[in-house]
Amino acid sequence: MSEKMTAKQYAEKLLYTPEYAADKQAEVKAAAAAFAEGYKTFLDAAKTEREAVTVSEKMLKEAGYQLFDPKKVYAPGDKIYFIQGHKAVVAATIGTKSFEEGFRLAIAHIDCPRLDLRPNPLYQDEHFSYFRTHYYGGIRKYQWATIPLAIHGVFTRADGSVVNFAVGEDEQDPVFCITDLLPHLGAEQNERKLSEGIKAEELNVLLGSDPVEEEDVKEAVKLNTMILLHEKYGITERDFTRAEIEVVPAHKARDVGFDRSLVGGYGHDDRVDAYPALMAEIETKNPVRTTICVLTDKEEIGSDGVTGMQSMYVFHFMQQLCRAAGQDDIIAFQHSVCLSADVTAAYDPTWASAFEKQNGTYAGRGVAIFKYTGARGKSAASDANAELVGDVTRLLDANKVAWQIGELGRLDLGGGGTIAKYVANRGIPVLDIGVPVLSMHAPFEVIHKTDLYMAYRTFSVFCQQAD
Ligand code: MN
Ligand code: MN
Repeated sequence: MSEKMTAKQYAEKLLYTPEYAADKQAEVKAAAAAFAEGYKTFLDAAKTEREAVTVSEKMLKEAGYQLFDPKKVYAPGDKIYFIQGHKAVVAATIGTKSFEEGFRLAIAHIDCPRLDLRPNPLYQDEHFSYFRTHYYGGIRKYQWATIPLAIHGVFTRADGSVVNFAVGEDEQDPVFCITDLLPHLGAEQNERKLSEGIKAEELNVLLGSDPVEEEDVKEAVKLNTMILLHEKYGITERDFTRAEIEVVPAHKARDVGFDRSLVGGYGHDDRVDAYPALMAEIETKNPVRTTICVLTDKEEIGSDGVTGMQSMYVFHFMQQLCRAAGQDDIIAFQHSVCLSADVTAAYDPTWASAFEKQNGTYAGRGVAIFKYTGARGKSAASDANAELVGDVTRLLDANKVAWQIGELGRLDLGGGGTIAKYVANRGIPVLDIGVPVLSMHAPFEVIHKTDLYMAYRTFSVFCQQAD
């Protein structure tokens, strides 16, 4: 007969108290700090989805990945990849078990909220030249004024050639900006609602103020700007109509805090999941089940389009693998598991009323699991089964991966969704996981290094699970 337990023993045995993963584990802190160095480099090199594709493809090629051939039958251990429409990456390592025994998918996104140039962007007002923008994704517009901005993109020229460019990243480059009113003249603007502090039509990017020297030229500043662009990139004003150009914050990723425990930067949503998912995929050797890492596009505007997760591109890839191997793709889908990797809001003590403390996700408590997302009564949520949450959390526990579980914030305040439901639509069980972010969707977002590292550990153990 065991003796009666004390209340303290009961509390330890029965109650659940989430912990800060690295507080008592110096080795976790050190490993997370080391992993974050590679991540910051990735962030700085990949501010747009196209750049994230370029950097990822380079990493994949260096790791021996071959371009996918739909007609080829692959052997266990083979590493393959393809690029979807210049803006999404799919990489896979063939497993020892058949495809019919299921794929292991990890899907993150590489598009970020930003300002896109409009099709006819260039204009002059008084003695300044500007670009007109159309914002992409959910931004708080007032956050984009009076910060240094860089311009990244691609022109397709009249002769069919393509030119990629980025201005504002090199220390020697000029930067750009959106201007705001001075407080001395702010009385009327101060009465606006915060959501209209800066309006969409006021997100105009300042480009220059020098005119061409000849007299009697209309819009001489605009023309001078165009001449500079022509000299550098060989483009005309008409080439803006066949371009994709994004305005992003010019700053680099930096450690935040005296203790350097956090990373601040642009685009944590969702590179903070994309980078660890890609690293885990690259490091996976001879997995039991075929692993697929997807870095997708268009998540921030609803996953539509040929590079978004509502497109079939990932599922076609799985089907083509099955067909070449003479296997049934429906059976393969049914036996697959997907981690839908996307960021969530980190509980912010300064904005505590936006959260429900007990179900918040906290920077430093490890990778955050979301059984469901959605808004107003879980609307539009892909609600993962308890059994799947159980399988994944037991796997994480067995491998000492720190995880937490929660919801986005206070009920009925807002909400959000992920790509999970588009995977679920294909009959593939899927669970949302990701890194909590402070100031999500802002030009300078903040994450905790421990959570980044635990996301990486999550993808690693998921890819390499024995069975
Ligand atoms: Mn996201
Ligand atoms: Mn987002």
